Amino acid sequence: MSNHTTTDELPPPAVAPPELRRGGWRLMREAAAGSRGWIVFGVAASLGWTVAKVAVPLLALQAVDDGIDPYDGHSLLVWCLAIVGLTILIAFFTAGRRYAAFAISLRAEADLRRRLFDHLQGLHFGYHDRALVGQLMARANLDLKQVQLLLVFIPVAGANIVMIVGVAAVLFVLNAKLALFSLAALPFLSIAANRFSTKLHPVTTSLQQRLAGVSEVVEETISGIRVVKGFGAEHLQQERLDRSADEVYEEAMEMARLRATFNPLLELLPTIGLVVVLFVGGREVVAGELTVGELIAFNFYILQLIFPLRMTSFIVAQVSRASAASARVYEVLATEPAIADRPHARPLPDGPGEVRFEGVDFGYDDGPPVLEGFDLLVDGGESVALVGATGAGKSTVSRLLPRFYDVAAGAVTLDGVDVRDTRLADLRGEVGMVFEDTYLFSDSVRANIAFARPDAPDEVVEEAARLAGADEFISGLPDGYETVLGEQGFSLSGGQRQRIAIARAIVAEPRVLVLDDATSAVDPTKEHEIRAALTEVMAGRTTLIIAHRPATIALADRVVLIADGSVAEEGTHEGLLETSAAYREVLAQYAAEEAAAGRRPRRRR
Ligand code: ADP
Repeated sequence: MSNHTTTDELPPPAVAPPELRRGGWRLMREAAAGSRGWIVFGVAASLGWTVAKVAVPLLALQAVDDGIDPYDGHSLLVWCLAIVGLTILIAFFTAGRRYAAFAISLRAEADLRRRLFDHLQGLHFGYHDRALVGQLMARANLDLKQVQLLLVFIPVAGANIVMIVGVAAVLFVLNAKLALFSLAALPFLSIAANRFSTKLHPVTTSLQQRLAGVSEVVEETISGIRVVKGFGAEHLQQERLDRSADEVYEEAMEMARLRATFNPLLELLPTIGLVVVLFVGGREVVAGELTVGELIAFNFYILQLIFPLRMTSFIVAQVSRASAASARVYEVLATEPAIADRPHARPLPDGPGEVRFEGVDFGYDDGPPVLEGFDLLVDGGESVALVGATGAGKSTVSRLLPRFYDVAAGAVTLDGVDVRDTRLADLRGEVGMVFEDTYLFSDSVRANIAFARPDAPDEVVEEAARLAGADEFISGLPDGYETVLGEQGFSLSGGQRQRIAIARAIVAEPRVLVLDDATSAVDPTKEHEIRAALTEVMAGRTTLIIAHRPATIALADRVVLIADGSVAEEGTHEGLLETSAAYREVLAQYAAEEAAAGRRPRRRR
């Protein structure tokens, strides 16, 4: 659902709260644990790589000291061939490590995306009412990518740590004094890395949030493009985007500044090491305390440290980004669905589709009560029209039956079973909903109609289309039932879309059909056609119908007038017309709204 929260109205917390960060880390651990085999393989390949890398300078040392000074051609060749062999081995280790790294991280990303999607689908309507689509998209895309980018470095990061420790150990064995001098600056690195990480975390958290802000503006602009263009408000959206993009720029620059101060330090350390090796080591060679080979090996090792040290900066930054990102993903996953099957939910028994509201109280979240002591009994097979002023709660009544929301007091029962005691899948399979807004998926007409029952035979789909009065125009489409609709496909008129939606609802052969303003977009001159279809659809099927046109309301066996949160009057359409001034008033309001809407297209999506 769209609202006007912009990123600047909603100052993001500087740091994700600790329980979210902990949750985020747990998520990453769980996601990586799915690839235990690859982690073992990746770490083994990394260790092999490190050992081989650390061995190369030792071979070079031998080549110099045994083969060059003093000269020994055979020995030189052997050592050189050994270096080539080791280098080939390193290539294999590199390939294995890289493959494992991607196997671990991409698998984790896919698993988390599946979990997030599954969870989002399971979350209750109340959550989706408030959630910003762009924000959720950002979490499913940008944030999960950051997690993947961290996990891909598990083997490399492990190798780097071992490499730094390994190199230090070898240097100490070779020449403790020189090692001490050349590595003296290393401890400062860990202090600096710590400070860097502490400063970086709020910036990365904020950056991830700002990025989601951009995705929110883009999503809202594209979803609402008709409104934006219709009101010539492109420049307003452009300004919103500029603001969001500027915020991203600011945070990203702040991050660049932090990294720019940390990175040179990482370059400086090895360079100092090299100078120390040349200066101190050179004097030792002259004094005969160090061989030339050892000096060269020292040099090699210091150079070998450059890459792992630079990676450290990147990994510290990535840990920070992934921690912020995973906390955002965890925040969604930690939201419990408010509406779910109860532990002992039972299957819905067969029945005629009797619907009963008993003393129902309901209000949205912290909003005012919408229904208060609402009582209504709809017999199996009966059709009831819900009528009432705008905002009276007609749609709300229809949403309580399939448990889009739960009542605050009282109960809603279907065939004698409280809807909260049966399984959601059963319940929703038995309640067919058609809304004013018809969402068509980018798929064929057939698939759109057979949405809830993809395996429905062609005859069933076509029969449903015929019942909904859609068969005729579908036959006239370029590819008939195979015509692709939706975002990328063929555009239908509002009325045609609604007929497809009605056909979609009846393919599932629901026990109860709910038509919430489902014929509003049907051209009044065409409505008699769909009215004939509706009569057939409603025959013998429990139906709750919300409609504004008197002729459609009159199709129902009974009309219920809702006012002040409960049933104010009921009777037949003709009966109420005669006896109820309130009913006539509501119908007059409907007629005025219809006239005001004029021929304006009402299609929203
Ligand atoms: P009707 O269908 O009779 O026009 P609704 O059932 O849609 O009325 O709405 C009843 C009341 O509940 C209105 O005041 C409306 O603003 C409010 N309302 C409807 N849907 C929501 C929602 N998803 N979140 C919060 N309030 C809502």
